[in-house]
Amino acid sequence: MRIANVDGRASLVLGDRVVDLEAASAGAFGADPQALLGRVDELLAAAGDLDCSSSQPLDRTRLRSPVPEPRQVFAIGLNFHGHAEEAGLPVPTVPAVFTKFPSSLSDPFAPVPCQGATVDWEVELVVVVGASARSISAKDAWGVVAGVAVGQDVSERTVQFSAGGQFSLGKSYEGFGPVGPWLVTLDELEDPDDLRLRCWLNDDLVQDERTTDMVFSVPQLIEALSAVTTLWPGDLIFTGTPAGVGITASPPRFLAPGDVLRSEIEGIGEIVNEVVSPS
Ligand code: ZN
Repeated sequence: MRIANVDGRASLVLGDRVVDLEAASAGAFGADPQALLGRVDELLAAAGDLDCSSSQPLDRTRLRSPVPEPRQVFAIGLNFHGHAEEAGLPVPTVPAVFTKFPSSLSDPFAPVPCQGATVDWEVELVVVVGASARSISAKDAWGVVAGVAVGQDVSERTVQFSAGGQFSLGKSYEGFGPVGPWLVTLDELEDPDDLRLRCWLNDDLVQDERTTDMVFSVPQLIEALSAVTTLWPGDLIFTGTPAGVGITASPPRFLAPGDVLRSEIEGIGEIVNEVVSPS
């Protein structure tokens, strides 16, 4: 199932059409996209009962973040072997966790304000938690996931590296966290542990890797995070970026107004974000 947020209302994507979930379920499920994230298992079980006759053409300009107001946003640094290598840094022995403050999150086709001279791209698999979860073992971890989406962990590198190793603020300017284009539930994916991520900057394919290159797999990340914190329905985990970011290019390459980022994950979809001058 593909669960979208259309102008603030939970909706299901049916090919090139969408249907409002509250209408399709005769009110059994509400319109609030965030509240739905704790009920995705229930929704999957009810799929056969939905009336999708009121579907309309999908207009991607009306798509909003499928997870508009998470309580917690986790992000993982250096979580791909290729990215650790290109950065010249040792592969972490425990997940390097930081946050993107929720105010940085944005819509799948939202512009990215270019806040600074060293703004960089990071395509990432974004995992959306679907249940309250504490002390979850890796073998049970996919069971607490509502679904997955595409994200960009946009990063202002000067701010990121100027704070004693505390990354969060440099990752949290307005518009630095587009997520979408919708949430894909796990039953749609052949193997959620093996997904191809790609990112294009204008016409250049700059990142192309599979999630099998992760240092810590999604289940291992959920085990590590839930050993310390309680995960809540609707929480986000940005699971790290593969090789091919701008700061490690030779010479380094950073985003400028007019650039367009296109980020795609196999089996999920793509998000497109134009870089603009900050207002
Ligand atoms: Zn990242």
